[in-house]
Amino acid sequence: MTIRIGHLYPDYLNIYADRGNIAVLRARARARGHELDVVGIAPGEPLPAGVDLFYIGGGQDREQALVSGDLAAKGAALREAVGAGAAFLAVCGGYQLLGRFYRDQAGATLPGIGLLPLHTVAGERRMIGDVLLECEWAGGKTLAGFENHAGRTHLDPGAEPLGRVVSGFGNDGESGYEGCRHGRVYGTYLHGPLLPRNPWFADRLLADALAHAGGAEVDLPPLADELEAEAHAVSAARARARGGRFT
Ligand code: GLN
Repeated sequence: MTIRIGHLYPDYLNIYADRGNIAVLRARARARGHELDVVGIAPGEPLPAGVDLFYIGGGQDREQALVSGDLAAKGAALREAVGAGAAFLAVCGGYQLLGRFYRDQAGATLPGIGLLPLHTVAGERRMIGDVLLECEWAGGKTLAGFENHAGRTHLDPGAEPLGRVVSGFGNDGESGYEGCRHGRVYGTYLHGPLLPRNPWFADRLLADALAHAGGAEVDLPPLADELEAEAHAVSAARARARGGRFT
């Protein structure tokens, strides 16, 4: 099958090796005989039809301000696509814009698109460092990554986090939660990049995208993943030893 990825604002929200996440999706899809068709979506452009997985990466307040109005204008179409089963991965600055709003460091309120039940307010100190999560919804599998954000993200009561923080800060440094998951929409502060060291999560996104593309659940045969397991172990050990730091 061909999986269509809609990459939102690749020229604006692209720090922290976010493109590497797409390279991982492509390699893991190919290993199972599927192809990726990646379509960049710039401000002012309409959403392409038939997107199976949307992707939005990280950026600083300045870049978020440049795209937030355009994203808000695309909000209804994005909510409709997700309602029809498209998956969505949002990282860091993009994650913040999937909530209701992001109040930035200068006090400006940027609109979000309300795809995730949360809001974010920038704090004084940045939360930076290695982070390790445990994902209850995935049978306790872990995600390892790196976070670097001033925003404190507050989940609505009853909202489901992506994971419980084992080491690091997570959404706000207090709740013990990181990210948010709502159906096939996943938001997280983890980058560094995220997917090369967390292959099970890459496969979860591919499975969601393939289910949308083909209309039925698809089995992904396992891959060897020896290097990936090593990368995960190194990153998880670093998080356990050092965790995150305020700067
Ligand atoms: N505005 C965000 C924050 O610092 C940017 C996060 C990011 O993508 N680095 O909270």
